[in-house]
Amino acid sequence: MKTTEKTGTVYLVGAGPGDPELITVKGVIRLNTCDTVVYDSLSSDRLLELAPRAEKIYVGKRAGRHSMKQEEINELLVELGCAGKTVVRLKGGDPFVFGRGGEEVQALQEAGIPYEVIPGVTSAVAVPASAGIPVTHRAVSRSFHVMTGHTLSDDGTLPPDFPEFARLSGTLVFLMGLGNLHPIVSGLLKAGKSKDTPAAVIENGTLPQERSVKGTLGTIEELAEREGIGTPAIIVVGDTAALDMRATMKQPLAGVSVCVTGTSGFTKKLLASLHGLGADGECVCRLGVKSYLDSEAMKEAYGKLKEYSWLVFTSANAVRLFFEGLEKYGLDCRSLGNVKIAAVGKGTARELRQYGFLTDYVPERYQVEDLAAGLEHMVKPGEKLLIPRSFGGSRILNETLDRAGILYDDVVLYDVEGQWREKERLEERLRASQYLTFASGSGVEAFFDGLTESERLAMEQIRVVCIGDVTARALEARGRKADVIAETFSIPGMTAAILKDTSGRECGQIISFPAKGKINEETEGKEDGNDS
Ligand code: SAH
Repeated sequence: MKTTEKTGTVYLVGAGPGDPELITVKGVIRLNTCDTVVYDSLSSDRLLELAPRAEKIYVGKRAGRHSMKQEEINELLVELGCAGKTVVRLKGGDPFVFGRGGEEVQALQEAGIPYEVIPGVTSAVAVPASAGIPVTHRAVSRSFHVMTGHTLSDDGTLPPDFPEFARLSGTLVFLMGLGNLHPIVSGLLKAGKSKDTPAAVIENGTLPQERSVKGTLGTIEELAEREGIGTPAIIVVGDTAALDMRATMKQPLAGVSVCVTGTSGFTKKLLASLHGLGADGECVCRLGVKSYLDSEAMKEAYGKLKEYSWLVFTSANAVRLFFEGLEKYGLDCRSLGNVKIAAVGKGTARELRQYGFLTDYVPERYQVEDLAAGLEHMVKPGEKLLIPRSFGGSRILNETLDRAGILYDDVVLYDVEGQWREKERLEERLRASQYLTFASGSGVEAFFDGLTESERLAMEQIRVVCIGDVTARALEARGRKADVIAETFSIPGMTAAILKDTSGRECGQIISFPAKGKINEETEGKEDGNDS
């Protein structure tokens, strides 16, 4: 293939053995800045999220989908390079360890496309380590040897050099060997290894789903069969396989899988908080905000801002959009000179602070009921309120204000829409997870609106976590009771509720990751209630 003047660069990046945090810093930087990511099934979704603006091209095998041949992948990389793209070719483990990375490099060399190989933590070392097996250990094993267990010779027997490999005294590591466990074990015994030689098989190493069996060459086949060990798996044979150096510190949410719903900002922060405690989690339904700033009602409200004595915000989203509208309609903060401001909770108040405004009232509990009750006492006769909020906001606010004879304009500023993320995998994910989280009534609506009957059935075992009572009520209206309700209406509150539910114990302070950046207790969903 001919190259053009504007040639891109292809980075072959080792993604590490499974746990997304085991990628290199250099790999993360390349992901952050690339135009395209070419990835396969060993890559975690969390790594793809590190390339938010990049086009993502899947080239691996997944049930029911055509997978690309290696030659097609090589061609694709060359084409993208020729088109001037900065490409990350994400490869499980290390690109050069049975990853066919060498073939991709040769194709790029032939086409004259600039490239760089960024090594990764190979599963050959990291997966045994995760199961507590060091590949070398003083006085036990002075070498380790990595072999593919996949390539049998044409007649279905082991490769001709297998007996020499089998006679090595160091640790033997087989990748892609689970399907050939029997010929591998019998080949090793035939080559003279004792049936008492320690052996282990580790599935999904370094991931929350990691499982392993440990025994000897005499027992390992039966153990793997009995436990139903599946792929991807690594076989380790040698004296170090009898050692157990597994981490003594287990993360408190290790092994817990959570399906998260909510706005992009909220789900990212909640997932970061859950991942930081060792949970496995993914966003299944994302809420997007649709602005009503152009509506007649909003235009009118901005036109008569001076008539209002109070501005009432029930979500951080409403604050953001309201100030966007101020600019849009040629106004500035002076038009809010005499207005008092109420916010449903700390997150909303913090958002207001970003625009230079303090709040005159925030209820003790971040609930719309409490906000309504507080306003009832604070608003003076003749004062009028502007409540720019989401479509379908809680009626409790209106009912309380009506009862108290308070004047107000309740204007729709935005609505939220649900977007599924890989809907075809939803059912499988719901079945495999222990928790499903909702952070707003609108999140509940969007989720249930798009649910099929079999997906609904897949939810039976899952425990549903709500950020607060209003969300829980919205859930109940859809025929499902909340199993867990957060005590404080915040990301740390939700994390603590899951932690308490899994362990039955109270936790201290939850630190959310990343530590930097603000956390909105009120998520940006349809809000109101205690949410958003
Ligand atoms: N380049 C990769 C290996 C690719 S070959 C690396 O350096 O790790 C794919 C094989 O790697 C799988 O068949 C399996 O044997 C092994 N493997 C990769 N990730 C694994 C994991 N998390 N747990 C167990 N085995 C894994």
